[in-house]
Amino acid sequence: MTGIAKGLDTQEGRSPRRSRSYKAFLCFASVALFVLSMLGSVFAEQPGKTLIVVAHPDDEYYCASTVYKMAVQLGGTVDELIITDGEGGYRYSTLAAAYYKKPLTSEAVGRKELPAIRRREAINAGKVLGIRTHYFLDQIDQHFTTDERDGAKYGWKSDLISSRLQTLMRKERYRYVFALLPRATSHGYHQAATALAGSAIRALPIALRPVLLGFDTNSARFVPSPTELFRHGIRTTGLHLTELPNLVFAMPCRTRSLSIG
Ligand SMILES: [Zn+2]
Repeated sequence: MTGIAKGLDTQEGRSPRRSRSYKAFLCFASVALFVLSMLGSVFAEQPGKTLIVVAHPDDEYYCASTVYKMAVQLGGTVDELIITDGEGGYRYSTLAAAYYKKPLTSEAVGRKELPAIRRREAINAGKVLGIRTHYFLDQIDQHFTTDERDGAKYGWKSDLISSRLQTLMRKERYRYVFALLPRATSHGYHQAATALAGSAIRALPIALRPVLLGFDTNSARFVPSPTELFRHGIRTTGLHLTELPNLVFAMPCRTRSLSIG
């Protein structure tokens, strides 16, 4: 039995000498893995500084996997600017009402409570995704619409949004701006946020202009909204698939680079 036990490759059956070699191997392997991972992060290409521009506090889930990879795994800098306070989400708050134990689907309660709740959730999500700074512009989130002019109609201060965007882009010299691909069928506030980001980029000197990337989870052909916010025209200049599936919804996330004007 002893001879058989010596031949077993288990912790209990290992001889003291073999056990010592095994531990030494494990120790060497962990040190080697640590050194390799450190070398990997040192020599991995640093991602460009990035600003996410979205309408709602949670729209960053469209680019969650890319942001996680850039900010957490590659040590890049990603900030997020959120235009509305998210109060219009009361219509979709059935689960949140149960979670927070508040009648959030009531318009009066939802509009009052959701801005603080969604702001906190965005900040907490940002901690996981590695987002450095959030900029909240607290514009009104009236309702769902596919009309990209609706935000301005209900009081979005477009001049303030444009000026904040331009100031940030000038100060931080972002290489990329992440936005949502402005499909004509998508939420009008998503379209408007991307249009405002595009206009702010266009107003910068060429040397300061970041690349605008539109995130999307729809494989259908891209048909942009042909209306006035995109008066300079918008076209896609490339299609890039992110390397990771979207972490939140486990769907492949497509990214298109956009050219406005
Ligand atoms: Zn949204």
